[in-house]
Amino acid sequence: MTELARRSFLAGAAALAVAVPGRSSGAAAPRVVIAGAGFTGATCAEYLRKYAPGIAVTRVDRNPPHVACPGSNEVLVGLKRIQDLRRDVSAMARGRGLTFLRGEIAAIDPARRSIRLSNGQTVAGDALMVAPGIGFRWGAVQGYNQTTESTLPHAWIAGPQTEALRSSTPDPTRQPDRHPHHS
Ligand SMILES: Cc1cc2nc3c(=O)[nH]c(=O)nc-3n(C[C@H](O)[C@H](O)[C@H](O)COP(=O)(O)OP(=O)(O)OC[C@H]3O[C@@H](n4cnc5c(N)ncnc54)[C@H](O)[C@@H]3O)c2cc1C
Repeated sequence: MTELARRSFLAGAAALAVAVPGRSSGAAAPRVVIAGAGFTGATCAEYLRKYAPGIAVTRVDRNPPHVACPGSNEVLVGLKRIQDLRRDVSAMARGRGLTFLRGEIAAIDPARRSIRLSNGQTVAGDALMVAPGIGFRWGAVQGYNQTTESTLPHAWIAGPQTEALRSSTPDPTRQPDRHPHHS
């Protein structure tokens, strides 16, 4: 999505969000679709649930569990395990009036306030919030690409990248050899 398209989409979504509470009584519950169930998506869903419990909220993410970046430095130095950073966003949604849908978001249609998943399914709402976190512009750094990330892990997205960086980092709990043997 271009920057301009993204801005006009966000402006439209904000206007819709303001319009939702003004619906006539008896109308179906307003629906909000949140693309991404990381920190931003989860926070938005939580506050909607708290302050506007009549709104039906659906979060869509490729990943239950979500693996948090905060804390990943502790995994790198052996103070935490990667499983300590995992949160099952699907289980957290259950029983709390939130719907979670697992899927890879392939396209966003701002005009229809809908997203299309890679399996062809379309999810539409009265308002749409986009919270997908960061992505990569492969090729922006000369010589660094999707193949190189396995040999030079960046760990900017927690999970396998954190584990790859951890296994390529010397174990900080190992004492340095004070009496190296010189041949
Ligand atoms: C190494 C590291 C350490 C950090 N430590 C801290 C810290 O100590 N404290 C702190 O406050 N912040 C920290 N941060 C920053 C913090 O992680 C981010 O600010 C936060 O994750 C942003 O939240 P978000 O919801 O925007 O994105 P994310 O949390 O990344 O969530 C985005 C979600 O969207 C989903 N998604 C993306 N694209 C698609 C798609 N096409 N289809 C389906 N789902 C998709 C992803 O699976 C993900 O669950 C750290 C970041 C890094 C990289």
